[in-house]
Amino acid sequence: MKATLAPSSLISLPRHKVSSLRSPSLLLQSQRPSSGLMTTTTASRGSVAVTAAATSSVEALREGIAEFYNETSGLWEEIWGDHMHHGFYDPDSSVQLSDSGHREAQIRMIEESLRFAGVTEEEKKIKRVVDVGCGIGGSSRYIASKFGAECIGITLSPVQAKRANDLAAAQSLSHKVSFQVADALEQPFEDGIFDLVWSMESGEHMPDKAKFVKELVRVAAPGGRIIIVTWCHRNLSPGEEALQPWEQNLLDRICKTFYLPAWCSTSDYVDLLQSLSLQDIKCADWSENVAPFWPAVIRTALTWKGLVSLLRSGMKSIKGALTMPLMIEGYKKGVIKFGIITCQKPL
Ligand code: SAH
Repeated sequence: MKATLAPSSLISLPRHKVSSLRSPSLLLQSQRPSSGLMTTTTASRGSVAVTAAATSSVEALREGIAEFYNETSGLWEEIWGDHMHHGFYDPDSSVQLSDSGHREAQIRMIEESLRFAGVTEEEKKIKRVVDVGCGIGGSSRYIASKFGAECIGITLSPVQAKRANDLAAAQSLSHKVSFQVADALEQPFEDGIFDLVWSMESGEHMPDKAKFVKELVRVAAPGGRIIIVTWCHRNLSPGEEALQPWEQNLLDRICKTFYLPAWCSTSDYVDLLQSLSLQDIKCADWSENVAPFWPAVIRTALTWKGLVSLLRSGMKSIKGALTMPLMIEGYKKGVIKFGIITCQKPL
C-alpha cells in the first residue's frame, strides 16, 4: 500500500472539475493543480469519486507516516538527539562543524523561529503551547523550559509519543509537557486555547494544507501566535500554473520515501492565512541557512556507527538515507525551499 502512494495525485483535481463557487483559498487549487492545498468536497459525481479515493489515500498516508516515525525515530535520536529538524546556520558558513555544532544549530533553529515571529519579546504571554507534529518532543521541552509554559505535543507515531513522555519524565518536566497520538487535521483541543501554535517541519506531511492551517488557527487563542516552519516548493512565477515536470518528478521521488503528499509554496501558505484574515503575516526563505544540514546528516550516516545503526534500524531508514541526496539536489536547483510562515490570530 505505502509503496504505491502517488503523492502528487493525492489531492489535486483536474482543472475542469474545480467548482467556480469556491472560497479564495480553495481557488488556489484551480490555479495550481499541483499545489496540494486541499482535499475536496464538491457536488459533481466525478468529484465525489475523487474525494473517496483521496480519503483512503489520506488514511494510507497517515499510517505510513506513523510507521515511518515508529521505525526511524530511535536511529535519529541515537545519532542526532531529540530534535528532528534542520539546523540553522549562517549563510555560506564553510566551517566543518562537530556533531555538537550541528545540535546547537538545531536549537538555533528554534530560537531563530521564535525571534522571527517576535515571540521572544512576548515571552511572558506564552502560557500554553501546542507542538503540532512534535517528534520526540525536543521543541516542546525546550520551549516549556524557556518560557515556563505548559506544552502539549501531538504526533501520529505512538513510539514517538511514548519516548517524548519518557524523556519529559526523565527531565522532571512531566508537570509541564505531555504528548499524545493525535491528528493535526483533527486536533483534540477546544477552540482558542493556545498562546503559541508551533509546527516545526510537520506541515510537509499534511495532505490538506487548508484544513491544517484552519486547525492551527482554530486552536490558537485570540492574539496567539502561529509559527509554521516547513519544506515548500519554490513560489510559482506569475502565469506559471505548475512546477516543471522534472521538478515535480524530483519531489515525487522524495515524497515516496518520506511519506509526503503534494507540496505547496510559502506564498500558498501566505494566501491561506490572508484568506482567514490573520494579522502580522510574515514569511521568509531560509534555504541558505539550512544548506549545511543534509550533507552533515549524510556524513554521519557514512560513519561506522551510522552504517551499523542504519542497517539495524530497517528498510525505511535505509530508503530515507538513500533519498537524502535528492533533498540536497532539490535545494541546489531551487525547487525545494525551507520556509517559515508566521502570523497572529486577531484579538
Ligand atoms: N517537530 C518535531 C518533529 C518533526 S518530524 C521536531 O522538530 O523535532 C515530523 C513530525 O510530524 C512527526 O512527529 C510526525 O508524526 C508528525 N506528523 C506528521 N503528520 C501528522 C499529522 N497529520 N498529525 C500529527 N502529527 C503529524
